[in-house]
Amino acid sequence: MKCYYQGCTKKGITKEHIPPRSFFLKGENEQLLTVKSCEKHNNGKATDDQYVLAQICRIASPTSNRANEVFLKKIKPQLSHNDSAFKKMLSKGAVTLDDGSVKYPVDTKRFDDFFTALSCGIIFKTCNKQVPENYVIHHQYPNFSSEDSVGEQGLHVFEEFKQLISGEPMKVLDFGKPNTQNESIYKVKVFGMPGFNSSITVVHLFYGKFEVVSFLSNFRASA
Ligand SMILES: [Zn+2]
Repeated sequence: MKCYYQGCTKKGITKEHIPPRSFFLKGENEQLLTVKSCEKHNNGKATDDQYVLAQICRIASPTSNRANEVFLKKIKPQLSHNDSAFKKMLSKGAVTLDDGSVKYPVDTKRFDDFFTALSCGIIFKTCNKQVPENYVIHHQYPNFSSEDSVGEQGLHVFEEFKQLISGEPMKVLDFGKPNTQNESIYKVKVFGMPGFNSSITVVHLFYGKFEVVSFLSNFRASA
């Protein structure tokens, strides 16, 4: 079987978890989905996974107990060493404000890479096919504040999108044990037509709080 990643012609020889196992606490990852992956599109992303998880937890934790718990158990232990590479990566560009709080900029390239891979995995699992090569994938992050350096144009597109998806999603998938603490870890909805005749929208929701919208635009159809 082919690798799940868009355009990849290699064979899937390893299992890729969608979303990554590291997003779940011990004992809560039984329901995870897997897709077949080549080596490049599996093992190479471990650092990005941790980075994205840390940022999502940071942004969601003020209003989500689950995000807080995951941060304490999975991220904080990695930050205990001052010179750890992970800590350096996370605090790159951080600014201490007048009130003593620290502002962490978001590396959107890492987020884009992560959510492109995740969207490819979700589509592969949903449709049993790779995202066709004429599809362009991009992402919106409504939870990033303007200080997290997301352009105004991006937010505008997101507002338009909100009006578009009033219909029923093609597929809703739930992960982890949603009822353990009343807040699901990850939920994803796929909007669009099966069979790749038009554009597809994937809405990811972490901890019921952090939302990412992935647009898979079919350029041949709209030309
Ligand atoms: Zn691959």
